[in-house]
Amino acid sequence: MADLRALYQEVIFDHNRNPRNFGRLADATSQADGNNPLCGDRLRLYLKVEGDIIADVRFEGSGCAISTASASLMTERLKGMTVADAEALFRKFHAVVTEGKEGEGPELGKLSVLTGVRDYPARVKCATLAWHTLEAALHHQAAASTE
Ligand code: ZN
Repeated sequence: MADLRALYQEVIFDHNRNPRNFGRLADATSQADGNNPLCGDRLRLYLKVEGDIIADVRFEGSGCAISTASASLMTERLKGMTVADAEALFRKFHAVVTEGKEGEGPELGKLSVLTGVRDYPARVKCATLAWHTLEAALHHQAAASTE
């Protein structure tokens, strides 16, 4: 699977160099700060929810390549999703990267490039930080920490 791994690394590299949906969202309906002290990753996630649809989502902050790429890939995927589908996708992603369980739920699609972190426990927190911050924002909590 060496070719696949190289492709995954290329996608992570690209999203780290050119993060999608990066910057403030002026008309956000909620926001939350995420902090991963183990690695030093920090991000702020902005959400604009209309009815039960995630109409827009942006982030800013600084962190390692995995945390930045994960936030970029997550925001790219979330736009236009319902809140319920986003929560289901979070549970699926979390189960795959922490326990290696595919299980039920939506297809990971491009998010699969991050599943390799499950072999590196310290990096799991980098990959899931954006998602924990999303959970906080969805539940109108101000902050999320991996510790
Ligand atoms: Zn990190």
